Amino acid sequence: MKRRDILAAAGAGLAAATLVGCKDEQQPTATGAGQDEASKAQTFSWKMVTSWPKNFPGVGVGAERFARLVNEMSAGRLQVKVYAAGELVPALEVFDAVSRGTVEMGHGAPYYWKGKVPAAQFFCALPFGPNAQEMNAWLHYGGGMQLWEEAYQPYNVVPFACGATGVQTAGWFNKEINSVDDFRGLKMRTPGLGGEVLTKMGGTVVNLPAGEIFTALQTGAIDATEWIGPYNDLALGLHKAAKYYYIPGWQEPNVTFELIVHRKAWDSLPDDLKAIVRSAARDVNGDMLDDYSARNMEAMEKLRSEGVEVRRLPDEVLARLREVAAEVVEASAAADAMASKVWEHQKAYLARLRAYAEDSEKLIYNIRN
Ligand code: CA
Repeated sequence: MKRRDILAAAGAGLAAATLVGCKDEQQPTATGAGQDEASKAQTFSWKMVTSWPKNFPGVGVGAERFARLVNEMSAGRLQVKVYAAGELVPALEVFDAVSRGTVEMGHGAPYYWKGKVPAAQFFCALPFGPNAQEMNAWLHYGGGMQLWEEAYQPYNVVPFACGATGVQTAGWFNKEINSVDDFRGLKMRTPGLGGEVLTKMGGTVVNLPAGEIFTALQTGAIDATEWIGPYNDLALGLHKAAKYYYIPGWQEPNVTFELIVHRKAWDSLPDDLKAIVRSAARDVNGDMLDDYSARNMEAMEKLRSEGVEVRRLPDEVLARLREVAAEVVEASAAADAMASKVWEHQKAYLARLRAYAEDSEKLIYNIRN
């Protein structure tokens, strides 16, 4: 990326921030020239822990891109060093590390912390829920970000959307799924609300980070796993450990990832560096989806050419999953006041987006081929 493009992107981010009118981004009202000079001279060296293996395709690359953009746009005034899962903290403890202030920043998937923050799932992925386009519309122009900030406020964590996968796959199975009964006794790695659906279908959920999935599948510790999609699944070599690749990713029509910043660290940044962080997160949020869209297609072609058996889940199975998913989402929201507040807001907004999709996306998808 050329420097002038980066500066242009930073400018676009500033313009967007002004439009959204987020309360944290008010311009200082009486900053003297001396203070300006002082804040421009100040440098910051931050740690960003992630839930991903080093440079992992898509999501891990996105975290590195974020750090590089911030370093370049700030001309080194804010330096972000990225740590892979396990280097400083385990993959699933990123939120806690940022919340405690052990590190300034983290990159992960909001639903990994659903045990601590039940509302987090609604900013991440819902079974049969929003696609990336719909999630982004709700977050950035529908009021979702303000709710996300409110949900994380008690933990001293400031969230930003920072990456999206688009439609995932149903996953890798060593057992055939021909009817709803085939989920009974199935041991599967699948996080979030999709995992709760599986439990209600009679399966057993095993929560594993990326680095442990292949071995668990290969040794039979689990019967099935979903991870992300062809691009990442190929990188993990999952096709070498399972017989069938099922589609579509009913459990995750999209996963949105988060950049999280410890509140005190965020407050310590001068306004121009805040704008750079916000702008870089916005860049990665869009860029990662582009990356996934291109590479998933290429990886699926490769998997098919290597003889991987790609199977569509039967309609009656998808219909039952959808029924159970609706119950699970409602029950999950009802169990927590903030989750309930978020879900009621999101549900109403998604209904409007879906009505419009009938006149736009869905209509054109159905007729263009
Ligand atoms: Ca997934």
